[in-house]
Amino acid sequence: NTPLHELDPDVAAAVDAELHRQQSTLEMIASENFAPVAVMEAQGSVLTNKYAEGYPGRRYYGGCEHVDVVEQIAIDRIKELFGAEAANVQPHSGAQANAAAMFALLKPGDTIMGLNLAHGGHLTHGMKINFSGKLYNVVAYHVDEKTGEVDMDQVERLAKESQPKLIVAGWSAYPRQLDFAAFRRIADEVGAYLMVDMAHFAGLVAAGLHPSPVPHAHVVTTTTHKTLGGPRGGVILSTQELAKKINSAVFPGQQGGPLEHVIAAKAVSFKVAASEEFKERQQRTVDGARILAERLVQDDAKAVGVDVLSGGTDVHLVLVDLRNSELDGQQAEDRLHEVGITVNRNAVPNDPRPPMVTSGLRIGTPALATRGFQAEDFREVADVIAEALKPSYDAESLKARVSALAAKHPLYPSL
Ligand code: PLP
Repeated sequence: NTPLHELDPDVAAAVDAELHRQQSTLEMIASENFAPVAVMEAQGSVLTNKYAEGYPGRRYYGGCEHVDVVEQIAIDRIKELFGAEAANVQPHSGAQANAAAMFALLKPGDTIMGLNLAHGGHLTHGMKINFSGKLYNVVAYHVDEKTGEVDMDQVERLAKESQPKLIVAGWSAYPRQLDFAAFRRIADEVGAYLMVDMAHFAGLVAAGLHPSPVPHAHVVTTTTHKTLGGPRGGVILSTQELAKKINSAVFPGQQGGPLEHVIAAKAVSFKVAASEEFKERQQRTVDGARILAERLVQDDAKAVGVDVLSGGTDVHLVLVDLRNSELDGQQAEDRLHEVGITVNRNAVPNDPRPPMVTSGLRIGTPALATRGFQAEDFREVADVIAEALKPSYDAESLKARVSALAAKHPLYPSL
């Protein structure tokens, strides 16, 4: 029972350094968040020791009476949160949730449709060397060049031409809301399943700030660690009719023993996500993104070639378009890193620069909203970002402004 600092000072030092990094910089990677201490406590619990292949009440191991309680709480809470008929809380990650959902509904060689990766889709929506691109015949749809929004006419045309078995609606880098009813109408027209991957915007849905895909889709997958603010992991929601197929695709189809410690942490985060405090936080998240987008379309930003894809945002992130800027995505990411703001570079549609460089940035507000940022703080962050992306910038003064914001909203003060 030797504590980590004594048993393994090397790992402990790296963990401490990471805590300090999170506390002292501004985290604006759109897929990240800060899990509550109680969530991390559940995740660090003795549940990590337990094998529990199977499902609550139907396990292949003895001694599952307590993990059964935990997993059933997680299932009940997430069904209630999203009004879903059935839930599987065992996928280890979002990618595994998508793999299992596809495994349940498709055969290798079947045709699927998904949003092109460079247009905001995820690897698991049909990227060439991902399992989804290797196992299935992929027909990708795109965003419209002018509006920056998914072209539903193209989705319909491609669906009619290619007769997919499954259409995936969802994204990793897209600043607008999808029309789930239109996707379902098209899926029904061609006899396809509709799967919505709400990994990014699940927290907004839970808070009632984004339309819910649940009434429209056959299957909804999500991660639990992005806007939802829980531990790293995945979940699959489905109709009752598909529940058995989904469960057997997760276990024994794709996974062995579930991570019951993570499932306990998921359960805690679903409780938090049903609270008024969570709703208020999601409101500050979308307000913050809107403030950022408004700042980055102002004249001084436009003058240095900085713009915002689709002209704004309806969600928790902004996609910065640097196609007309001297800075490429890598240089812009490095600039912001230098002043203490963490973001990721991101390809823009029809990006003239290579994928490792890109001409865009994806900037998100969930983690800062969790930290307590208010509208005035987001205005200050937006100003710092706009200044940092100009050809000449004063790194020292921008660093000081970032430090002041970090100090104003302490993160994990008890750790
Ligand atoms: N689906 C979407 C839309 C995502 O953005 C991501 C992650 O970025 C995933 C799935 C995969 O989640 P994970 O990284 O947990 O496998």
